[in-house]
Amino acid sequence: MTSPVTDMFGYFDELTPAEQQKLRDLDDYLTANVRPHLAQWWENAESPAHLRRELAELRLEDDPALLRADGTLSPRYVGFKHFFFARCDLSVGTVYGGQVGMFRTVVREGGSPEQVAELDPRIVSFDLTGCFALTEPDHGSDVAGGLETRAERSGDTWRLNGSKRWIGNAAISDVMLVVAKDAADGRAKAFLVPREAEGVSLRDIEGKIGLRMVRNADITLDNVEVPESQRLQRIDSFRDIASILAHLRPVVAWNAAGVQAAAYEAALAYTTKREQFGRPIASYQLVQEKLARMLGNATATLAMAARLTDIRADGRGGDEHSALTKMWTADRLRETVALAREVCGGEGIIVDNNVARYFADAEAVYTYEGTREINALIVGRAATGHSAFVR
Ligand SMILES: Cc1cc2nc3c(=O)[nH]c(=O)nc-3n(C[C@H](O)[C@H](O)[C@H](O)COP(=O)(O)OP(=O)(O)OC[C@H]3O[C@@H](n4cnc5c(N)ncnc54)[C@H](O)[C@@H]3O)c2cc1C
Repeated sequence: MTSPVTDMFGYFDELTPAEQQKLRDLDDYLTANVRPHLAQWWENAESPAHLRRELAELRLEDDPALLRADGTLSPRYVGFKHFFFARCDLSVGTVYGGQVGMFRTVVREGGSPEQVAELDPRIVSFDLTGCFALTEPDHGSDVAGGLETRAERSGDTWRLNGSKRWIGNAAISDVMLVVAKDAADGRAKAFLVPREAEGVSLRDIEGKIGLRMVRNADITLDNVEVPESQRLQRIDSFRDIASILAHLRPVVAWNAAGVQAAAYEAALAYTTKREQFGRPIASYQLVQEKLARMLGNATATLAMAARLTDIRADGRGGDEHSALTKMWTADRLRETVALAREVCGGEGIIVDNNVARYFADAEAVYTYEGTREINALIVGRAATGHSAFVR
């Protein structure tokens, strides 16, 4: 495999040889073990949780050949990892990335040095699996000010009460990182709650049209006791949560770039093969214009993801940079997958042909990690100096 076809400006080529090789290994693994089963898993809404152990063995996170002098991975490599998962399947990417991206990042950024030293190796090896539980039934976009899940401290024990909604991978996680409001000071705190703790109940959300292989759950917490030692010690407000989540924003753009790459490649393959009126449909001008638009969208999304990643790594780039990237790349994604579905004609709505899956999964990207509209309002606030948020 050389650079992905939608990487027209050669970002992949700027990775180190070890990083490129690791991503080729990942792509080979996905081709052999995942791609042949996707249609069936999607149709059955089956979570491929068993892949996590095998993926851990690929050492995507901790191969010494990848680690820089400070022991971290290069942000561009991390971005391309998400890109390659998304180019195969966004649900599979979420089953893996929810653990090593979302869960691991919140623990690493929010835990005390002792907590990180204890938990991080177990998270990377998937010996300890987890998810992140913030959204609530009555508070999605306004969860920052609306958090209703309560944590009450008595001695060294906290008691949690409340509900969470949409929590990805919850049913296949050992622990859930639950964000709750401290009843004493009204500030947000984060707790590691075992999935099987007394007072925890989970129910899978059924009937999703996107990310069907990810198990999203409704969670109820009824007087759940958590020791102080299981509270992440460096999270003491919603501002702390927001700044940790900001580290994850570029991931959405890499996901959008990966799904668009897959959609473009599928559209190109189909239109060059399919003949109507005696010629391949790819030879018609109207079809070529759509292919060019898809390629432009996918290329620009990848470029924006890479640039956002770079400036965040340098400590530059504010909320508005992340928000603009999320909003704009989600728009481009929606357009690209719709065009890919369109040029595949009737075949484009059959799951076996992949573009239907990309089309449906794009809707989840559009909504999670801050909806397109909420991100537009963050950009608008930065541009005008006027906040359109009521709260
Ligand atoms: C597939 C999937 C996976 C998810 N995984 C997780 C997870 O693992 N953990 C977790 O904590 N959460 C998760 N979420 C939740 C996600 O973050 C929320 O869905 C998202 O924040 C939007 O909240 P909501 O769905 O309640 O929509 P709402 O906030 O109710 O919004 C509904 C609509 O109103 C619009 N709207 C709201 N306020 C305004 C306003 N002021 N101006 C203009 N328009 C507005 C929104 O943009 C949207 O179009 C997931 C969601 C999905 C779909």
